[in-house]
Amino acid sequence: MSAESRSDSVQGRTAIVVGSGPNGLAAAITLARAGVEVTVLEAADEIGGGTRSGEAIVPGLVHDHCSAIHPMAVGSPFLGSLDLERYGLRWAWPEIDCAHPLDDGTVGVLYRSVAETAAGLGTDGRAWRLLFDRPVAAYDRFGADIMRPLLRLPRHPISLARFGIPALAPASLLAEIFRTEQGRALFGGVAAHAFHPLHRPLSASIGLGILTAGHRYGWAVAVGGSQRITDAMAALLLDLGGKIETRVHVRSPRQLPPSDITMWDLAPTAIAEILADRLPSRIAKAYRRFRYGPAAFKVDFAVEGGIPWTAEPARRAGTVHLGGRFAEIAASEREIHAGRMPERPFVLVGQQYLADSKRSVGTVHPVWTYAHVPHGFTGDATEAISARIEAFAPGFRDRIVGTSTRTAPGLAEYNPNYVGGNIMTGAKDLPQLLFGPRKTLHPYDIGIPGHYLCSAATPPGPGAHGMCGANAADRALRCLHR
Ligand SMILES: Cc1cc2nc3c(=O)[nH]c(=O)nc-3n(C[C@H](O)[C@H](O)[C@H](O)COP(=O)(O)OP(=O)(O)OC[C@H]3O[C@@H](n4cnc5c(N)ncnc54)[C@H](O)[C@@H]3O)c2cc1C
Repeated sequence: MSAESRSDSVQGRTAIVVGSGPNGLAAAITLARAGVEVTVLEAADEIGGGTRSGEAIVPGLVHDHCSAIHPMAVGSPFLGSLDLERYGLRWAWPEIDCAHPLDDGTVGVLYRSVAETAAGLGTDGRAWRLLFDRPVAAYDRFGADIMRPLLRLPRHPISLARFGIPALAPASLLAEIFRTEQGRALFGGVAAHAFHPLHRPLSASIGLGILTAGHRYGWAVAVGGSQRITDAMAALLLDLGGKIETRVHVRSPRQLPPSDITMWDLAPTAIAEILADRLPSRIAKAYRRFRYGPAAFKVDFAVEGGIPWTAEPARRAGTVHLGGRFAEIAASEREIHAGRMPERPFVLVGQQYLADSKRSVGTVHPVWTYAHVPHGFTGDATEAISARIEAFAPGFRDRIVGTSTRTAPGLAEYNPNYVGGNIMTGAKDLPQLLFGPRKTLHPYDIGIPGHYLCSAATPPGPGAHGMCGANAADRALRCLHR
């Protein structure tokens, strides 16, 4: 089809996008760029879904409410094509990407540079280089292959295989290539981002993806807060003629104006409920059975003078992982997966202000944390998080100016896509990671002509990279042109 006839076929076509997370906005921008008239409907008062930030404790102190660290966004081929800098988006990098202190006072340190990280890991330096040197050098080529449904003919099969073969392994098996506790823990802490038991197949994949993208692009934060990613995408969409309406909670298809395309930036179970018997029964069944993994329990702190970490590198790190040795991380991840709250959960600490000092007010700094907890956990993990930090930073509690907490049910209330507090939009087990909510080569199709699923429940999965939305919208446009 020629470019001319393609643009004829979108002439006067309309689209509704339900949900304004990074994937909803990415879908909307992709359609609007092609000439479709797009309206985004968002349930919340503000757009952005998992990419929002603002004040929570002290006036002027900026907290990321959800996403904070963005190697996948900086490396996203879609976001990279938008020139969002024109709309005010700026990235900033901390001196150290991530530190992982251990009880014996040692610390694993992740730098943007593979060589620097390897040098700090001593005897494990060689293994780190073996795992990352070549994939990082080739990331710009094969990165696009892992940012779309995996069951496609890859454009760069050799580079993809070099990355993909270790990614098939359980993280616990891959960790065996490291000899030191620091090397194993550093790798394990990033692998645990998958919220998935570390002995299961493919449990290394999300961690390897974050580490490879991170070594290539760094663990960047958005200057001014993650909301700036949303604001820049929304500004571009409005420039392209798109419209955005907030406070529209879509509960029935009858609420939607007629349109040629409908993009759903929602959890599959929500779509099954909203579209009910309009969905083909096999798809409705698959969506109703969609599995959600463990949850997050989020605590933001305002901290006078920052956290007094004992391990010096943690004072310079944008992210600090508190999970102990690899074996301890694996054990606590197994516990939450089994529905039990561990005494010492895996805790992630974000110190974005180290890269973006304007988020602080004087000497009071915003600190972002969350603990991995069981799905739907109704207890309070604030003390467990504070205790983990205090153990590595004596005197931390005395510096706390204020806290703001979001429980697992609170996260689900804040954003219905976080079912049971699961911030990954679904368990990343083998079938759901490969295919999304049902086994198909077309994970964005929902079985109703013109309707597509575009949330992080689809490949390539969670993160503020917008690739699920862009891929789904590409699929919608291809079907429109047929
Ligand atoms: C605590 C936390 C920390 C995170 N950290 C990171 C990080 O550091 N880096 C990173 O890359 N990612 C991170 N993420 C994940 C990232 O935020 C998500 O993967 C991403 O936002 C998913 O985008 P999405 O567009 O699929 O959905 P979402 O961002 O979840 O957006 C969905 C939108 O749909 C709206 N909606 C839902 N139901 C309806 C309805 N019925 N009608 C209308 N609107 C509706 C919601 O209100 C929401 O705005 C984090 C998430 C959380 C919660």
